[in-house]
Amino acid sequence: ALLTLPTAACSSTRGGDQPAATGSAAQPADTLVGIAMPTKSLERWNKDGAHLEGLLKQNGYKTTLQYADNKPDQQITQIQNMTNQGAKILVVAAIDGKVLTPALAAAKAKGATVIAYDRLINGSGDVDYYATFDNYKVGQLQGQFIKDKVGSEKVNLEPFAGSPDDNNAKFFFSGAWDVLSPMVQSGQITVPSGKAPKTNDAWTSIGVLNWSSDTAQSEMQNRLNSFYTGGKKVDVVLSPNDSLALGITQALEGAGYKPGAEYPIVTGQDADKANVINMLADKQAMTVWKDTRKLGDQVAKMVDQVAKAQTVETNDSQTYDNGVKVVPTYLLDPVVVTKETVRPQLVDSGFYSPADLGL
Ligand code: BGC
Repeated sequence: ALLTLPTAACSSTRGGDQPAATGSAAQPADTLVGIAMPTKSLERWNKDGAHLEGLLKQNGYKTTLQYADNKPDQQITQIQNMTNQGAKILVVAAIDGKVLTPALAAAKAKGATVIAYDRLINGSGDVDYYATFDNYKVGQLQGQFIKDKVGSEKVNLEPFAGSPDDNNAKFFFSGAWDVLSPMVQSGQITVPSGKAPKTNDAWTSIGVLNWSSDTAQSEMQNRLNSFYTGGKKVDVVLSPNDSLALGITQALEGAGYKPGAEYPIVTGQDADKANVINMLADKQAMTVWKDTRKLGDQVAKMVDQVAKAQTVETNDSQTYDNGVKVVPTYLLDPVVVTKETVRPQLVDSGFYSPADLGL
């Protein structure tokens, strides 16, 4: 005999809630999906946008994909334009997670459904769903990697954090700092610059606006010039992502650090091409890979479920409180990539071709 399960029981992997979609089903060809991405200046967002738009088009949806040059005002205008063009579903990777409330309210008034992409949008009751990688785990993987590498050695570490306007940045920092701060307290880790936040909430003091490589580079140069005199060496740099890691490694190179035993452990996130190439050259120890194709696949599925007035699949209903509501979320798993696993993880999966990486 066939075993019949209620369909809702099959759709959730972590037992999260399943808010029922409202409204009536629409034909893809009649449905415009607006995709608002933060910037073209970072490799990942180009991949994210292209992949998601490609999938939606394949499924028959009309799309408009916009990049806002990391300028919150420009992103607001783009969302307003999408609403005016009649977008029924908005997928938004926010630049500043706190300034979109009026633009989303206007979209909602016209019947749009809003999906926050990768970054949560704060202070708005009009965010319907959120899809992202487990942001706390990203930081935890970075912290644990450092802890494992360091073993029982005493080390000098310099911490960095992400953009203060990005809701993800505090999760990345907390995940890492929950692993590392006990080591700071025990004296195993010294932070010669004195820039170790006293609590997780104090992370914005070391945040780098817009995730800028240039700002990270000059900050690292300043720390090296001011606090690493008389032969003192930095052993570890906690970098929350690859764009900061690029600037940090430039500063290290400028200060004479050469790949080899003395080169600091530098962390990252995104598996951007330039950083993977740096990993292969021993200039970055790891990156946390978030396969943007998987996020796109999941969001394309959500869009389809919204458009067809089906239950939207989520697996976390407690973590992402945006100040007005806890947003039903679909969380994906990030993974660590090191020099040794570039081939099996990034090349064999087709994320990069060997030629992309000069292999
Ligand atoms: C994303 C990271 C990215 C960073 C800078 C964050 O919100 O989650 O993957 O490195 O923004 O673009």
